[in-house]
Amino acid sequence: MSAVETVSPLPEIIQEIRRAGGEAFRFCYQCGTCDVVCPWNRVTNFSIRKIIRQADLGLPDIELDDIWRCTTCGTCPARCPRGVKQIDVVVALRRIAAGYDVFPGAAKTLPSVRASLANDGNPLNAPRARRGAWADGLPVKPFTEGMEILYFVGCYASYDPRTTKVAAATARILDRAGVDFGILGARESCCGESIRKAGYEQEFKTLARENIKAFIDHGVKRILVGSPHCFHAFRHDYSEFMMKLEVVHIAQYLEELFAAGRLALGPAGAGRGVRRVAYHDPCYLGRHNGVFDPPRNVLRRLPGLTLVELRDARENSLCCGGGGARIWMDTDKRERFADLRLAQAREVGADVLVTSCPYCISNFEVSRLALLDGAGGNGGPHQNVLEIRDLTEVVWEALNESAAAP
Ligand code: SF4
Ligand code: SF4
Repeated sequence: MSAVETVSPLPEIIQEIRRAGGEAFRFCYQCGTCDVVCPWNRVTNFSIRKIIRQADLGLPDIELDDIWRCTTCGTCPARCPRGVKQIDVVVALRRIAAGYDVFPGAAKTLPSVRASLANDGNPLNAPRARRGAWADGLPVKPFTEGMEILYFVGCYASYDPRTTKVAAATARILDRAGVDFGILGARESCCGESIRKAGYEQEFKTLARENIKAFIDHGVKRILVGSPHCFHAFRHDYSEFMMKLEVVHIAQYLEELFAAGRLALGPAGAGRGVRRVAYHDPCYLGRHNGVFDPPRNVLRRLPGLTLVELRDARENSLCCGGGGARIWMDTDKRERFADLRLAQAREVGADVLVTSCPYCISNFEVSRLALLDGAGGNGGPHQNVLEIRDLTEVVWEALNESAAAP
């Protein structure tokens, strides 16, 4: 199915793309708006419009890695004058490529991610039995029926050394607020959102069924997530399985806990001065799910912080580069959106870049460390200046500092 020297439409391939869920291409009139807004064109040349056109003609080139670039950030579908769902087209092409076992370039990592998910329920080659190990020594119980809320931790917060700190901060906040919560530990599996975007549809369905069975077995009524990708999967993808549980993201839940008076803040702790905090909207919390204000409302409550807005904020947020399974693919260091985001944070004089997504945290930390390395680890423009924090981490710091304030 490589590109060939003809522009005659290939009906059988067009049909295959339609069967894979990508028929949205038929509304496109090739205006090019999608290319103008796509973040890839800030770092290299990339045309989603061309991919849509090739799909329309039945001439997709699945042997190039172009179809794997899209981070499914949601910027172009929001701007398309014809309502084309470009992400559906890309995912359909990836499903076809996965069916032929074609994973070129950066996508070559995906089969091993798939194997890890099949074997251990996570993409990180970590043992399923250790999924709850992050909670050792923390006030965290196994979930039992009748508890107020299930904390669905997610893969990165369960295993990734940087992001387990986010799970710990979340657990400590919940404990401080007196929330009766628990976790599923080894019964929790990856939500499957990103592997679905990689074209592995059956693998997504297996993970979804495992999780839904675990929710039913444990009598879960309400689920708290820290990852916008779990949030999106449970709210949208899992509804295909008739799952009707209430799902809340930690940014929303923190707002709820503060509003209910379950978390109390005193004055700021001494010694740190006022820190300027910029909030990065994760694509799957903001643009895809409309959660823009809760994290900002939480940050505004915290003493000792001033909230500043990034140049590309809210609906226009600049993707970190981690969605659409890109978190599992290598991105050339000259093509990292996260580098641009860190520069935007410094542009507005931020001391801290706060977000609420494990993929964003991972990508921002990689960019921050690379910038330090580029400066010889000594005296670069971001050194000891820009911190990367999850919302839960700054809330926990503020709760502790204000509790310690005189
Ligand atoms: S913005 Fe929409 S109509 Fe315009 S080229 Fe892109 S997909 Fe086609
Ligand atoms: S969804 Fe985002 S990354 Fe994908 S083509 Fe559209 S703008 Fe580009």
